[in-house]
Amino acid sequence: IHDRRESLYIVTSWAADVFQKSLWETDEGKSIGLSYFRERGYRDDIIKKFELGYSPESWDYLYKQAKAEGHQEEYLVSTGLIIQKEGGKSYDRFRSRVMFPIHNLTGRALGFGGRTLKTDKKVPKYVNSPESEIYHKSAILYGLYFAKKAIVNTDTCYLVEGYADVLSMHQAGVENVVASSGTSLTIEQVKLISRFTKNVTMLYDGDAAGIKASLRGTDMLLKEGLNVRILLFPEGNDPDSYIQKFGPKSFQDYIEQNQQDFISFKTQVLLNEAGNDPVKRAGVIREIVESIALIPDSIKASLFIRDCSVKLDIEERILIAELNKIKLQEA
Ligand code: ATP
Ligand code: MN
Ligand code: MN
Ligand code: MN
Repeated sequence: IHDRRESLYIVTSWAADVFQKSLWETDEGKSIGLSYFRERGYRDDIIKKFELGYSPESWDYLYKQAKAEGHQEEYLVSTGLIIQKEGGKSYDRFRSRVMFPIHNLTGRALGFGGRTLKTDKKVPKYVNSPESEIYHKSAILYGLYFAKKAIVNTDTCYLVEGYADVLSMHQAGVENVVASSGTSLTIEQVKLISRFTKNVTMLYDGDAAGIKASLRGTDMLLKEGLNVRILLFPEGNDPDSYIQKFGPKSFQDYIEQNQQDFISFKTQVLLNEAGNDPVKRAGVIREIVESIALIPDSIKASLFIRDCSVKLDIEERILIAELNKIKLQEA
């Protein structure tokens, strides 16, 4: 007799297995799914390590097998694998997609991301498992199970946006990496990382959304007392595309040479937006001090104030006065 959560885990791990077998052992899986991964440049050992799979073009590929093997409908629906229509008819959530199982810290698959192979803009690029009793999006980091040892050993964690970025970085030999998977970074995710390291480098996509997410992520991480570094990719690139275009060696060089601390990053991004308008520039300085005000350790904060004063060429006492003003407003 299993408890309910255990029963749900059994269904999701079973489904991961079905998708994986479909990728490696069926004609459709091999010719469409496996070729897709290989064409994107993923090695077979990486495809296997992450237990990637394929959901065929069918309304009931998983559902039929589940019934045949005696899995309870209710568990299939509760884990989001099967969608029940009002009239009672049920069908597979994941169809015609390459499948990324999402593992918990002990390596069990509890949810999925499925990527379409179509280039049609009307089809959502990714479909993800819905929230369930065992899958809480806001508390999961994709890849953490495969990264935790390397995170502890290197005492750093790279934070990326997507599944593909995690895969390519592993393939490039950088294993201390997790993805927030499109959702904007949550406090739970930050707390999860901080169990393994206090040092995080954000490698978000080189587009407007990525920059915005980096600014927001910076503040979340600072607030939890973590040390933050940020790296911006050339416009239009993400870690995966960079690695596949330029190779692992130049990727490693790139990330070593282009990381910035959060003050340089915010200065660069925000001053660039502000241009020469003095009112806007003052606003930027205030925003940076606001970030510093989030840092719980006041010694660290005062070091950043000094750093900021040098970088922006503003008297330290003015920044300290501003910092104290913000702290008072918060109190
Ligand atoms: P790829 O390289 O396969 O095109 P990506 O990871 O670069 O994918 P992005 O568009 O950068 O894709 O999105 C980052 C992440 O956000 C994805 O890996 C996925 O987890 C999530 N995501 C993207 N699009 C969607 C969507 N339509 N619905 C839900 N999640 C999404
Ligand atoms: Mn993006
Ligand atoms: Mn991306
Ligand atoms: Mn990508």
